Amino acid sequence: MSYYTIYNVKIDSVIDVIYSKFMIYLCKMIEDKNQSRTSISELGEFGLINHLTKNFKIQNKTTIKGVGDDAAVLEIKNKQVLVTTDLLIEGVHFDLSYMPLKHLGYKAVMVNLSDVYAMNGEASQITVSIAVSNRFPLEALEELYKGIHLACENYKVDLVGGDTTSSTTGLLINITAIGQVNKEDVVYRNTAKPNDLLVVTGDLGAAYLGLQVLEREKQVFEVNPNSQPDLSGYSYLIERQLKPESRKDIVKLLKDLEVKPTSMIDISDGLSSEILHICTQSKVGCDLYEEKLPLDPQVISTCEEFDLNSTTIALSGGEDYELLFTISQEDFPKIKGNPHLTVIGHITDESLGANLVTRAGQKIKLTAQGWNALS
Ligand code: ADP
Ligand code: MG
Repeated sequence: MSYYTIYNVKIDSVIDVIYSKFMIYLCKMIEDKNQSRTSISELGEFGLINHLTKNFKIQNKTTIKGVGDDAAVLEIKNKQVLVTTDLLIEGVHFDLSYMPLKHLGYKAVMVNLSDVYAMNGEASQITVSIAVSNRFPLEALEELYKGIHLACENYKVDLVGGDTTSSTTGLLINITAIGQVNKEDVVYRNTAKPNDLLVVTGDLGAAYLGLQVLEREKQVFEVNPNSQPDLSGYSYLIERQLKPESRKDIVKLLKDLEVKPTSMIDISDGLSSEILHICTQSKVGCDLYEEKLPLDPQVISTCEEFDLNSTTIALSGGEDYELLFTISQEDFPKIKGNPHLTVIGHITDESLGANLVTRAGQKIKLTAQGWNALS
């Protein structure tokens, strides 16, 4: 099953994906020989760029010149400028047999904005570079850019440039995000202090489980294309995998609460690995409490079904795009009871190491993969 079986399935929300049982749609798509396929070579490179970017409106005063010249022109006054970039490769970072291109475009933007928010900044511009093979018709790129467009609208960022080139194999997407932050507001990874509280936003592990569910359905489908996939009961997990949101709202929330984190990072590779980045770079240790890990009920029930340990999934699942940060203890009353924020542990001296404190009260050394049961 290749991407063109699904690229023009019209899906506006992941919930639609689920309730329309999109795997069945895929079967229909394969049979549908009348779907439109416009070769990108018909437009030429400039025609293509213009076609894909013409609906993007500039939303930020900091964007002086967007797409169309040799370089974009930005004017960012009295602020520190944040720049971050990510490269996504078909077959490595995404699988187009269950990732609709519109969602891929949206997610590719989220991955980058999340890094800007993790510096406690505001994102304002992106550039998008793509390499595509001729198996991608114009309609496929239109879907990809619809997702990018929606992300730009929802998060108020401007698309200001990119590059378009050909690839001999799959699809490559490189997005660069640009943002800004007041000098006094920027938050790094290397500034956590002993006794600080360790706080996480949202909940953990759902995106990874969403991927497991989709992989399972893909395998069932490959064996039996007439199978009736059942994705009900996994809606939250699949949404977290296919249409993640980045936590722009948390940067604002923290400002409103007058809390400046002492350190911050976004959770792309799994909680455990991100905590270790903070600990290593800040030269501190931490105690993380298993019983405090925020888990959605679907994560708990799906872990039971797949015979997975929910703590392992929360610690090493990845792709949650939540924020992990530390705050000084005196700021605790300001965040206490906030439904978006969970205190999951505290920072200790470097000599004590980074540990998971289990429900049974046992201390286990954290590793990038979760925890090391043998230590
Ligand atoms: P150059 O030859 O100077 O690299 P291009 O012809 O590649 O210029 O690009 C022309 C304009 O279109 C530039 O503003 C560039 O940033 C923008 N651009 C090129 N490809 C894309 C793309 N895939 N998405 C958005 N903007 C693009
Ligand atoms: Mg170019």
